Amino acid sequence: MRDAAPQTIYLKDYTPFGFTVEEVHLTFDLAPSATRVTSRIKFAPNPDATDKTFFLHGEELTLRWAKIDGETVEPTITAEGLTCNVPNIPFVWESEVQIDPAGNTALEGLYRSSGMYCTQCEAEGFRKITYYPDRPDVMSTFTVRINGPEPVLLSNGNPVASGKGWAEWHDPWPKPAYLFALVAGELIAHPGKFTTMNGRKVELNLYVRPGDEHKCAFGMQALKDSMVWDEKVYGREYDLDIFNIVAVDDFNMGAMENKGLNVFNSSAVLASPETSTDQNFERIEAIIAHEYFHNWTGNRITCRDWFQLCLKEGLTVYRDSQFTSDMRSAPVKRISDVIDLRGRQFTEDQGPLAHPVRPESFQEINNFYTATVYEKGAEVIGMLRTLVGADAYSKAVDLYFDRHDGQACTIEDWIQVFEDSTGRDLGQFKRWYSQAGTPHLKVTESYEGDTYTLTFAQHTPPSATTPDPKPQVIPVAMGLLAADGSEAMGTQVLEITKDTQSFSFPGQPARPVPSILRGFSAPVVLDHSADHAFLLAHDTDPFNRWESARALAKGSLMATIRQGKAPDSAYLEGLTKVVADDSLDPAYRALMIGLPAQSELAASLHAEGDVPDPDAIHLAVDAMREAQAEALQDMLHPLYDAHQVTQDYVPDAAQSGKRALGNAMLALITRRDGGAVAQAQYDTATNMTQQLAALGFLIGAEQGDAALGAFEAQWKDDRLVMDKWFGLQVMKAKPDDAADTATALTRHHDFNWKNPNRFRATLGALAMHHAGFHAKDGSGYALLADWLIKLDPVNPQTTARMCSAFQTWRRYDAIRQTLIKAQLERIASTPGLSRDTAEMIGRIRE
Ligand code: ZN
Repeated sequence: MRDAAPQTIYLKDYTPFGFTVEEVHLTFDLAPSATRVTSRIKFAPNPDATDKTFFLHGEELTLRWAKIDGETVEPTITAEGLTCNVPNIPFVWESEVQIDPAGNTALEGLYRSSGMYCTQCEAEGFRKITYYPDRPDVMSTFTVRINGPEPVLLSNGNPVASGKGWAEWHDPWPKPAYLFALVAGELIAHPGKFTTMNGRKVELNLYVRPGDEHKCAFGMQALKDSMVWDEKVYGREYDLDIFNIVAVDDFNMGAMENKGLNVFNSSAVLASPETSTDQNFERIEAIIAHEYFHNWTGNRITCRDWFQLCLKEGLTVYRDSQFTSDMRSAPVKRISDVIDLRGRQFTEDQGPLAHPVRPESFQEINNFYTATVYEKGAEVIGMLRTLVGADAYSKAVDLYFDRHDGQACTIEDWIQVFEDSTGRDLGQFKRWYSQAGTPHLKVTESYEGDTYTLTFAQHTPPSATTPDPKPQVIPVAMGLLAADGSEAMGTQVLEITKDTQSFSFPGQPARPVPSILRGFSAPVVLDHSADHAFLLAHDTDPFNRWESARALAKGSLMATIRQGKAPDSAYLEGLTKVVADDSLDPAYRALMIGLPAQSELAASLHAEGDVPDPDAIHLAVDAMREAQAEALQDMLHPLYDAHQVTQDYVPDAAQSGKRALGNAMLALITRRDGGAVAQAQYDTATNMTQQLAALGFLIGAEQGDAALGAFEAQWKDDRLVMDKWFGLQVMKAKPDDAADTATALTRHHDFNWKNPNRFRATLGALAMHHAGFHAKDGSGYALLADWLIKLDPVNPQTTARMCSAFQTWRRYDAIRQTLIKAQLERIASTPGLSRDTAEMIGRIRE
């Protein structure tokens, strides 16, 4: 439990630590409830620092002794750390602490998971392992000795020596403590080999628990692909003799980029055709790449302080999205990313949790691993690349690596390399880092003589952290189409810098149709009454073609919700043509059939001054699905049949695209046939993609319960598959039943609520079920609050993240607002609430 009166930390208050750390030596004597950690650390006064206070972070540690230069000292200890008088010349600090990994349910520091030891130190977990200046700008080499009976004993860097019951590791690359890792357990290695571009031989291992050996091959291949890609595209070579990945079952996030020893949530690395869906495979490939890419963008060059988190995360997300685009389909990846950005980041920007990509204050940094820092942070890099061009981007990034290797940097350093290598002034561009909020871009058109003119007006809604937003630099990729659908002007990038700005295109013999914000070239809301039906038929930009279908679908849904209008026939006609077009990628056609999320419709209604009714939204979407089934009815079975994969399963873009389109057809077929085809697919499925899709369609049909029972019987011993079973039932519940379904699942003997994956599968699914979570009787709100209150003392980090389910509460009607408010009050007044959850609830209630 933490302090009652949390402090706010400000970017502007940054000062360097008073000491540098030359070397760190750690010895671990492992025991589940009483691990001893001995440290030997060489400090020297930091000439660049004015504050010479010797403060070492430390939480939940029992100090057994401490020495300076061999002499016992008696430091002053508080709940946050210790202070001690030290000489003002270099000295050696030694200490021994005792910690309790088995009692550590917060999954931060050294903890136990399924019988193994593992660590999670980002952001501030190292201070739960030993006393240390736990801040990213303090970098040092680490030598680690592990004593324990476990057969596998791992840490960062290269192995030095080992024997029965011990192993020693040395990491030659100076690193901050948040990149420290240790793993010990009875693990099986899935080995691999890699030779770098300069001939360095690297040993690769994916360590898993016995029984998971058959789920390693894909992850290993993804790692090799990532290593090759980073050499080819960014010129970055791996820098140790060994690279290890470990899968752990209990993990708060997806994965962690510890130097040379990445620790993964098992859901983010273990994969087999029988147990993982195509989407799982794609996500795993991306996360392995992401963590590997951090070796350069995060580890070799790290962050000066946690306000700079986007320096490593935005850039690394951008890099992993480039990787996925290269490995798979670029348009499909871009569309998926934009769906995700709108669903999570725009939501953040629209509510009380809005914050800049680089926040200026926080209470608990764990609460800032957000869609804004990660995904909007990546969008900012993408815009920068669009503005300067691909070649200039590469040159600037090379300069970044040359200039800053081995340093702890800031966003200013990052921008500076672009200014220095391109000669551009990026002062205004920097607002993308300092201003919260999603800019709205209103477009008007005129056509006079043969000149076509576009006028853009930008406006960013004010938010708590950015009450007075200034105009931003918005790169708008656009093209012009002629009336026959041919290109009148290929893609150009317009740079919008002012509140209002016009661009003229002379020499247009006829009025063209504009295609604006191609490839979603900036994370903005476009307000433009475009000819979406025309663009859906003709746009040469695949993103905007998809966007047109989205816009038509959304317009139609909004008209149904507001005025009870029937689904728009222009949309359904356009959709039918695209779905029937065999020259288009099946994955892309599957995306075309998708509809905006119900929460997005609620957001739009709210933004336009209406009060969203979750039940009405749910009904409108259901009516639209029915209309799709009718419009596409002649092609449902033929397309379903044509997209059955007969070859052996591979999770590549081609096969998974076919399955995506086939299953999109099956969803609509099931509305018609009561589940006969879905049942047949379920019965004959030989991979999880086909099995799970069929199961999802059967839920709610007559055969649903039997299929759920069969699935449970088949997969009861596979945790990751059972997470799907828990989640799917909530996702597919009728709105009125969602909370009851979740409640029943929390009583299932296999509902291990301390496991973040299982907790999220069940209660996270409820929070994402728009009409179910917002059930009028408040049952969804109450259930989530009950469980957040229960989880908070056990795992503050996961609790706090899930509080974001309440961030949209002011969109809804007075009755729902009152119900949610009561739950927020109840959580806030829970005695001993964690700093993490207190901060989140505090911000949401504002
Ligand atoms: Zn990352």
